[in-house]
Amino acid sequence: MSHAELEALRERADEINLQILKLINERGRVVQEIGKAKEAQGVHRYDPVRERKMLNNIKEYNDGPFLDSTLQHIFKEIFKASLELQEDDHSKALLVSRKKKPENTIIEVNGVRIGDGNQSFIVGPCAVESYEQTAAVAEQAVKQGIKILRGGAFKPRTSPYDFQGLGLEGLKILRKVGDEYGLAIISEITNPADIELALDYVDIIQIGARNMQNFDLLKAAGAVRKPVLLKRGLAATIDEFVNAAEYIISQGNDQIILCERGIRTYERATRNTLDISAVPILKQETHLPVFVDVTHSTGRRDLLVPTAKAALAIGADGVMAEVHPDPAVALSDSAQQMDFDQFDNFMKELKPLVKVNA
Ligand code: PEP
Ligand code: MN
Repeated sequence: MSHAELEALRERADEINLQILKLINERGRVVQEIGKAKEAQGVHRYDPVRERKMLNNIKEYNDGPFLDSTLQHIFKEIFKASLELQEDDHSKALLVSRKKKPENTIIEVNGVRIGDGNQSFIVGPCAVESYEQTAAVAEQAVKQGIKILRGGAFKPRTSPYDFQGLGLEGLKILRKVGDEYGLAIISEITNPADIELALDYVDIIQIGARNMQNFDLLKAAGAVRKPVLLKRGLAATIDEFVNAAEYIISQGNDQIILCERGIRTYERATRNTLDISAVPILKQETHLPVFVDVTHSTGRRDLLVPTAKAALAIGADGVMAEVHPDPAVALSDSAQQMDFDQFDNFMKELKPLVKVNA
């Protein structure tokens, strides 16, 4: 074969590549149309019966030189890629997705703009135990320039015999302390029926890890006009977490803060495993602000400063941490709450790293 003949064959192969490219993309567009039609009819996208028919058809018409099994493999990849195209369309449709809304959602609470590039803190006791205890923590928060106070009134505990929180009484204490110290209040609500009640007392509704897939609670929180901080479930994937937020936004409330709080893994050195890479993933995939709760993700006082530094460095919108006047006697999470000296040091270490949007 002459050099010229070889070149001609290579050119022919190049041309065929472009034809295949054109046809594959054309097929992709047709499949997207099919996907839209199926979605409108509420039919599942993946159809193994139809796929089997297509593969049989290819086999029937195959006159070589490729083996049936080789072509089956190639076409299966094309089918898979087409299905993924349809799934991309689906995630485009999610209301929390950045594809749907490219700009950051900003939540304004008590003069703090969460999500606009500032980094802020939410601190407070694990549980509200008394007015005095809550007010003492509030005083420390104010001293550090913090604007949002946390505290559990309804505590979802692993054991029914553990302290369950003060309930409504706890919410009343939080509101009183918030008003006295000029702090916004965030507290967890566990029952959909209590969402309305909570509106009178809290500035942000917290939905806890154990309730991330309590769909009635998510819908109830979505139906009100109050910011919601949604924690990642104990063993929830990022996809499940994002879909839980979708439940809230689909009811009309787009004021959602996502909170990474560690997930359950085989590792026992920490209470949970802080999934730090979830922060940039959530920031990329959604337009919602993302917080990191360092207390529940580590369960270790000695890890609060380094993990909070990591959260700020990786681009979290803020950090949540628990502070108690005397952690040793706290009614919950006694091993990981900071006392006031530890909290002072925590803020001293972190303040130089906090991004402030000019
Ligand atoms: C809390 O923040 O009080 C709490 C119970 O955390 P989580 O839901 O993340 O376990
Ligand atoms: Mn706690």
